[in-house]
Amino acid sequence: MRGVKKFGPAFAQETTIPLCEAGVHACKPGRETEISKESVKMAIANDITHTNARRFRSFIRYITWPVLMIACVWMTHLGISKDQPIIYFNITYFSLALIICVLERIMPHEECWLKSDGQIVADLGHTVLSKIPAQIWAGLIILGILEVAGNDGGVLWPKSWHPAIQVIFGLLVAEFGLYWAHRFAHQWPFLWRFHAVHHSVVRLWFVNTGRFHIMDAMVSISLGQAMLLIAGAPEFVMLWTAMLTPFIGFLTHCNIDMRFGLLSYIFNTPELHRWHHSRSKEEGNTNYGENFMLWDQLFGTFFNPPRRPSPNIGIGDFMPQSFWGQLKCPFVWDRQQAETHNNEASSMNNLAAKKPKI
Ligand SMILES: [Zn+2]
Repeated sequence: MRGVKKFGPAFAQETTIPLCEAGVHACKPGRETEISKESVKMAIANDITHTNARRFRSFIRYITWPVLMIACVWMTHLGISKDQPIIYFNITYFSLALIICVLERIMPHEECWLKSDGQIVADLGHTVLSKIPAQIWAGLIILGILEVAGNDGGVLWPKSWHPAIQVIFGLLVAEFGLYWAHRFAHQWPFLWRFHAVHHSVVRLWFVNTGRFHIMDAMVSISLGQAMLLIAGAPEFVMLWTAMLTPFIGFLTHCNIDMRFGLLSYIFNTPELHRWHHSRSKEEGNTNYGENFMLWDQLFGTFFNPPRRPSPNIGIGDFMPQSFWGQLKCPFVWDRQQAETHNNEASSMNNLAAKKPKI
């Protein structure tokens, strides 16, 4: 049958519909009418426009993450080479936040995640509370490292390698500690109480990137930095590691419709991290890497199935809605979970009692 291709929203399959349905020419019942050359030209032009628009959208989805990451790496390089790392870090950090904020509205991955979850105060509260002491703690560890290893690195560190390779090596070394800190936080019930604060969100967006209980943040920073301490990383590697990790974290949690292809086998992308926030333990206890996926690949926790994850994320445990309640929650965990369980059970019993008996 003669027809034109029709393109729906993203991911929709191409379908072929009769030209008459496409509005090219009015059909008379029983037979297709002659189609004027002008109508065919218009249909082909529309077809090409739709195809080009679809290709352009796909192109933007594929280049967004690499372009933003390259920009962050370039700004980090400028900051360190000009000896102004803190100023350049802050410019990049807040610019990236602004760009992500705009992109989340223009091209969201999940429309439903744009709605408020009433957690913005708690999200920002945890971000500020965990960032300040955690950064001081990280700074003290770095000073300790420099004391032991010196500015140029310890005896174990491969100083002869190209600086860029040393930075990648440093990120992978720190990642080993971050990976196990994260995996322990999921698999050890005591640590899960703290990490549950991060996983209790019901939507992912850039604002809840830093939503970590302060104890959770301290444990992961300590393990990440400890690896660099053992390896004797030099000062510039420490700086690169500390500056790049927050940028990748921002992008990991963002609600932007992007595509990654092979990048998801190397880096921790939003595509992978959405599985990590799944309510299902089989899906959620995977993809622990913070920057790279190397350790997930080696230790068998890499998860990237060819389907779309559910937008219904969160945890099965009780988590208070208030910031202070969340801070206190890990310390009164058993009592709060038991109370919630009992309340739910009594509500179910009340409902059952009210049901008319047949
Ligand atoms: Zn986690």
